Amino acid sequence: MPAPAAEMPALAPWASDPLRSRGRRLAEPGLEAGEAYRVDRERIVHCTAFRRLVYKTQVFLNHEGDLFRTRLTHSLEVAQLARSLARELQLNEDLVETLALAHDLGHTPFGHAGQDALHECMRAHGGFEHNLQSLRVVDVLEQCHARFDGLNLSFETREGILKHCARSQAERLERDEPGGVAQRFLLGQRPSLEAQLVNLADAMAYHAHDIDDGVRSGLLTLEQLLEVPLYRQCHEAALAEHPTLAQAGTRRLLFESIRRLRQRQAEDLVAHSRALLSQHAPADAAAVRALPPLVAFSAGMREAGDALKHFLFGALYRHPRVTHSTDRARQVVAELFQAYLQRADEMPPEHAAQPQRERAVADYIAGMTDRFALREHQRLTGRVLFG
Ligand code: MG
Repeated sequence: MPAPAAEMPALAPWASDPLRSRGRRLAEPGLEAGEAYRVDRERIVHCTAFRRLVYKTQVFLNHEGDLFRTRLTHSLEVAQLARSLARELQLNEDLVETLALAHDLGHTPFGHAGQDALHECMRAHGGFEHNLQSLRVVDVLEQCHARFDGLNLSFETREGILKHCARSQAERLERDEPGGVAQRFLLGQRPSLEAQLVNLADAMAYHAHDIDDGVRSGLLTLEQLLEVPLYRQCHEAALAEHPTLAQAGTRRLLFESIRRLRQRQAEDLVAHSRALLSQHAPADAAAVRALPPLVAFSAGMREAGDALKHFLFGALYRHPRVTHSTDRARQVVAELFQAYLQRADEMPPEHAAQPQRERAVADYIAGMTDRFALREHQRLTGRVLFG
């Protein structure tokens, strides 16, 4: 149920306004213009790629444990965080929620290892990049509407989904859609404030939940975490407020510390962004494009966040136990790619019929969940890489 209108804060003049949307690629006259981003959100939540996120790896491979984040629970945490920040900043909550739920739709199985392997396979055929793939999912690959391929989403949603884009790819997209979602990369412009916000909420969410998953998995210790100044401050603040937590076991203390980490980052982001917004005072959402990023952390918090990110890279993402599984995941993707390339009829007919074989294989593999990829790998190669 939508909240009663009276409880929703008024949108700031620089917020994205669905009534001023640049619209959909195919006009849909029946839709109410003011509902544009809510319609997008509904289409995303009901699409196939969204349901697959539940069985896709975030950091820990999906079969390693039931409590680790998956792409779906990660996306929900990003949506939660982004919505509360949007409310504080009087940005468009519907658009940030839509972007948060859609931001990882193009991810392959097995997290970044899967993407790297697929990119390697596609190097001579245009490469593979998950942001571009997210856009491809919502523009082309979803097949659930009678009148169009994809989901025919609003311009602002599509532009926000395309977070990064290499110049060569931007030029290609711009040829297909002049003045479209890739143009800002060619002009060196910013996306909407809502898209800027979701980018930062994404990093805030995974920093916080990767600490939790890292400790849960036994790969990170409290002693290691206390070497990260931002975490240490949150840990000490939690203990100062609740001294009994020192004896109560590590879980509650960990949760209290992580909650403070999110709060500190959120408060910093809101305060610094408010200052930037009042300093630059963009006349409307369009004026945001030519300005520097206006949703941002203070310099101090950015440095503290970078130090945390650096720590997680070394201690968790490159932990031998994580890289051991990701190496095998890479092998699964690479061998699947070769298998389908040689035997296209092993793919469903709609993929096998695509004229550009390599891209069709990449689309098919990218759409798989971890466990479906493992089943297919076993079926096609007769080998089991994960016991
Ligand atoms: Mg993400």
